[in-house]
Amino acid sequence: MNKIRNNPIEIEKEEFRRIGYQLIDDISGFISSIDAKPVTYNRSPSQIQQKIAATLPKNGSPAGELLTKTTELLINNSLFNGHPRFLGYITSSATPIGALADLLAAAVNPNVGAHILSPVATEIEKQTIKWLAEFIGVSPKYGGVLVSGGNMANFTAFLAAITAKAPKAYKTKGVRSLTGNPAVYCAKSTHAWIEKAAILFGLGSDAIRWIPCDSANSMKTTALEEKIEEDLNNGCLPIMVVGTAGDVSTGAIDDLTEIGKICQTYDLWYHIDGAYGVPAAVVPQYRGLFNGMEQADSIALDPHKWLYSPLEAGCTLVKDPKHLTDTFSSHPEYYNFGSEEGEFAQNFYEYGLQNSRGFRALKVWLGLQQMGRNGYEKLIREDIQLAELLYMLADEHPQLQAVSQNLSITTFRYVPEEYGSDDNFDEVYLNSLNETLVHALQRGGEVFLSNAIVDQKYCLRGCIVNFRTSEKDIRDIIEIVVREGRKMHLNLQNKK
Ligand SMILES: *Cc1c(COP(=O)(O)O)cnc(C)c1O
Repeated sequence: MNKIRNNPIEIEKEEFRRIGYQLIDDISGFISSIDAKPVTYNRSPSQIQQKIAATLPKNGSPAGELLTKTTELLINNSLFNGHPRFLGYITSSATPIGALADLLAAAVNPNVGAHILSPVATEIEKQTIKWLAEFIGVSPKYGGVLVSGGNMANFTAFLAAITAKAPKAYKTKGVRSLTGNPAVYCAKSTHAWIEKAAILFGLGSDAIRWIPCDSANSMKTTALEEKIEEDLNNGCLPIMVVGTAGDVSTGAIDDLTEIGKICQTYDLWYHIDGAYGVPAAVVPQYRGLFNGMEQADSIALDPHKWLYSPLEAGCTLVKDPKHLTDTFSSHPEYYNFGSEEGEFAQNFYEYGLQNSRGFRALKVWLGLQQMGRNGYEKLIREDIQLAELLYMLADEHPQLQAVSQNLSITTFRYVPEEYGSDDNFDEVYLNSLNETLVHALQRGGEVFLSNAIVDQKYCLRGCIVNFRTSEKDIRDIIEIVVREGRKMHLNLQNKK
C-alpha cells in the first residue's frame, strides 16, 4: 500500500504480523491452560481500578506494548466463563473458532445493515438464520435477524407482535391507537426481559399478565385461558402469549402445543422464548419436549448460550418475516439500497432495531460448520447428561438435597447431616445458609454456581452450557460444595 499520510493509526505490515502472532500465541496459551487457573481472581472494583488508573492519554503509545499489557491485564484479572467449573447463570464457554471469526470480521468490517455494504456478510447472515431454523427443526419459511442476545431477540419479536395484532393505526398513533388496555401473557417463570419490553414499547408493566406455574415450573394453561377470557370480558385487548422453552431458573419448558392452541383460538401472537433451551431440540431424545414450537409466530434463541458462540449473538426467528419489515422498515432519502437488477437484496436494517450492524453471523456460521449438526448434538446431550449426574450425586449425598433438573440445569442445596428428615428442616436457616454458601463459592474461585429459588427453597444452581466441563469436574464440585457448606454451617452455628 502506498503511504500517503504518515499515520500512526495504521500498523505497518511487519509490525502487525509481529504483534498479531504474539497475541495469538498468548491467546492459545490462555485457552490451553484455562483449567489451571482459578475460575475467578475475585478482585474488588477498587483493586481493578488501581490497575488501570490513568487520565485520558494526551499522546499515543505503540500498539504492541498496549496489547502486551492488556493481554496480561485480562488474563490475570478476569472471571473465566470458559473454565470447566464455571456453571453460573446461562453463560457458555466460547468456541475458539468464534474468537478467530471475530478477529476476521473486525478486519473486513462489513456493515451488515445493507446488502450493498456487506454483500458476502449479508448472504452469510441469511444462511446462518436458515441453518438455525433447520437446527431447531422448524419450517424453512422462518426468517429473521441476528441481534446482540436474548433480550434484544425477545424485544424484536415483541414489537413485531404488537404491530401485527394492534389496530393498523398503531404505527402512526402508537399506544393511543390501542382500544382497551393491551395485555400480554406469560408464565411467572418468564425472564425479566418482558418487563423491559412492556416499558420500552409503551404498554407499561401492568400490561403483563403473569400466569401461575405448576409444581414443575411450567405455565398453567387453564389459568392462561381463564385470564384471557376475563380480560376480554373486561374490554381489554389481548395481544400475545409468551411461552418459555427452558426457563432461566430451572430449565422447565411450557406446554408449547397447548399454548399454541390457545393462541389460535383467540387469534393472539405466539412467541416462544427459547433463548437458552431451544437448541436442545437438535437431540432426538429431547425433541418431543419442544412439540408445538412449529406453531410459533416468533422464536428467540441465543447462539451465545447453547451454541457456545462468544458474546454477543442472539437471534429472532419469525414465521412470516414480512412482519419484521412491516415493523421496522423505513426508506429515508439518504439510503440508496434498492434491489439490484431486480434481484432481491435483503437489507438487514429493515428487519430489526439496529441500523449499522456488525458481522456477528460469522462466528455462528463458522461454529455450525466446524461442529456440524452431529457435533452440536453430542455436546448438548453430554451437557444434559452432566446435569443429570450432578442431580444424581446430590441426591445420593447425605449432606445435599437434589431439588430439580431439566435440560442442563440442576438445582440442589446443602443440608447439614444432623437435619435427618424433612420435618425438622429449619427452612429459614437453610435458606440463609445456602445463600451465604453461594456468595462464598462465587468468590472462592474453585467453582462458580449461581442461585435459584425453587419451591421457596434457596438453591445452588448449576447450568452446564460448557463444552469443557467433565464428569470429574462434576464430582469435584460436589466435594467442594460439601466441604464449604460444612464449614459455613459450623461458622454460623458458632456465631449463634
Ligand atoms: C438468557 C435468557 C434471556 C436473556 O438473554 P440475554 O442474551 O442475556 O439478553 C432471556 N430469556 C431466557 C429464557 C434466557 O435464558
